[in-house]
Amino acid sequence: VIRSGMITAALAAFLLSCSHAPTGIPNELPSQPRSLTVLSHVRLWDGSGAPARENVSLVLRGDLVDSILESGASIPSEAKVIDLTGKTIIPALIAAHSHLGLTKDGAAGAQNLTEANVLRQLKSFAHYGVGTVVSLGTDHDFIFDLRAKRQAGKIESPYILTAGHGFGTDRGAPPLEMGMDEVYRPRSPAEALRNVQDLAVQRPDLVKIWVDDFGHSMKNKMNPKIYHEIITEAHKHGLKVAAHVYYLEDAKKLAKSGVNFFGHSVRDRPVDAELIRLMASRNVGLIPTLSLDEAFFVYADHPAWMDSTFFKEALDPGVWEKLQAPAFQPKQSSRKDLEIAKQNALALMRAGIPVGMGTDSGATIYRIQGFAEHEELALLVDAGFSPAEALKAATSVNAKLLGLQQSRGSLVPQMKADFIVLDANPLENIRNTQKIHEVWLEGQKISGAI
Ligand SMILES: [Zn+2]
Repeated sequence: VIRSGMITAALAAFLLSCSHAPTGIPNELPSQPRSLTVLSHVRLWDGSGAPARENVSLVLRGDLVDSILESGASIPSEAKVIDLTGKTIIPALIAAHSHLGLTKDGAAGAQNLTEANVLRQLKSFAHYGVGTVVSLGTDHDFIFDLRAKRQAGKIESPYILTAGHGFGTDRGAPPLEMGMDEVYRPRSPAEALRNVQDLAVQRPDLVKIWVDDFGHSMKNKMNPKIYHEIITEAHKHGLKVAAHVYYLEDAKKLAKSGVNFFGHSVRDRPVDAELIRLMASRNVGLIPTLSLDEAFFVYADHPAWMDSTFFKEALDPGVWEKLQAPAFQPKQSSRKDLEIAKQNALALMRAGIPVGMGTDSGATIYRIQGFAEHEELALLVDAGFSPAEALKAATSVNAKLLGLQQSRGSLVPQMKADFIVLDANPLENIRNTQKIHEVWLEGQKISGAI
């Protein structure tokens, strides 16, 4: 049904273009509707790093940003105009570290990995203004078909990037009980090489590796010779590599091995000049996942946001009960981890390292998809980022880290029209990203935004 609707719209656009172009007939049908939509009288923060612009019109053509017009500029007569006086538009968020399909109804595990569950979660992400989701290494094979359907416009969902099957360690991370049951666990560099070659056939968007021992809870860490082989081979296939890290020493070795970004913060100690130098010289980025560390303890504190609709609507059935004492047992050491992670994120951002936004949402039932991405922005601001710096992490910096900067992460002409319409200005208070009026993905307003 969706497909036939798209064809009809494309045909209509074709007929319209004929009537306006008497001297020639286009050789082929346009690939998508090219109708013009104008969102007028908005404050626009475009994600590029430029200051917000007041009282402008964002012009969409089909799925793309066409132009930004100053107030008073003439608007093409065929355009559909929507007056959004008082609203603020920001690019849709890019969630650079999430997991799809692992959680459902208050439980986590591989049994939840179904297309229906992944679709349900993608829809929730979209409602929360997340326009791109990176699923980092825990997927089953059906993700590739689902990605193809999404990228062909057959389902309403955020843009999907997947690492497919990630790389862990035999009798090591990631824990099988978290549902990470189809992760490669090579026992030698030669096996790692074959595994990367197998994965590359599936055309993942990036490669994920888990290198440490989850706070000494696992028997083995990944041998550096193995991750060196994975990274080297991945690069031959044009694939970036993201690493799960915790320890400073691992981060240094990974940077020397050519890893592209860290999927978590260094949390055992403050980053030092040597790591900063390595990251800067090898263009290594960071996804701090501060909300992961917070989620280990914060529910025991019952912050005011736990009673907000914005939080509660993100919860699966059965999760709320598990966040209450005594069911929820806080991990007190994560308070210290969070403080170190915040300091390190700020130090690296100030040193010019690309610091993006990701949360590890969906890896456990405590990392709440959709909500976590907004909480991460607030935590980055707590860490010392300005609201604009935090929003940049979640938009244009992430786009660049993921190689999407030609199409996503900022609202300038020819970029995908993925954006959130907010009722209040997030540059004044970062929690205003939670005041979502509408979400638009690829030029279409999505149904039922929260
Ligand atoms: Zn993860």
